Amino acid sequence: MKIGVFGGTFDPVHIGHIHAVAEAKIALNLDKVIIIPARQSPLKSSSPTKDKHRLNMLHHAVEGYGFIEIDTFELEQEGVSYTYGTALYLARKYPEDELYFLMGMDQYRSFDKWHKNDELLELMNFAVMARAAEDVRVKQPFIHIQQPVVEVSSTIIRERIANGNIVRHQLNSAVYKYIKEQGLYEA
Ligand code: ATP
Repeated sequence: MKIGVFGGTFDPVHIGHIHAVAEAKIALNLDKVIIIPARQSPLKSSSPTKDKHRLNMLHHAVEGYGFIEIDTFELEQEGVSYTYGTALYLARKYPEDELYFLMGMDQYRSFDKWHKNDELLELMNFAVMARAAEDVRVKQPFIHIQQPVVEVSSTIIRERIANGNIVRHQLNSAVYKYIKEQGLYEA
């Protein structure tokens, strides 16, 4: 099987994430994509929203997408989540399969700061997607997935909610409803 792996904080998961996963499935002919929410990203300074909420939102967002799974491996570990540890876990769990780690251009740009990044390149394939119209080139051995860009970020959504602006169009409707019910990201 060809398996995509998509890590992040998903705080909250938005239409850009699901769009990226679906386009990667098409471009790479993936059989499934595993979304792995991080407890705390090594390169992000602020603490994310409670794991429970981020996970509930992810479950709402992938409802009906039969090829997407959510794996809580990183949420069950102590401390920050390094992709290297997750890659070892996945390589053991799927020894016969081809793994493709999917990432947006922002993550690709910080890849030289990632823990054990050379070793990581031995464990998985890496595929990069643009997040803005001007993003284009990636170096070998990375794969560039060309997909229509959806310029949405969790940061913008959090700021907009705090400022009372519209976010409904950037979120799955069940995720939007959950955020409203729980009062997440309000100022
Ligand atoms: P934040 O604004 O909080 O940093 P984010 O929107 O970048 O969040 P993450 O949860 O950090 O979301 O991202 C998880 C993965 O999804 C990363 O690989 C990121 O590059 C990618 N990604 C996020 N938004 C998009 C998008 N609009 N298009 C393509 N990839 C995206």
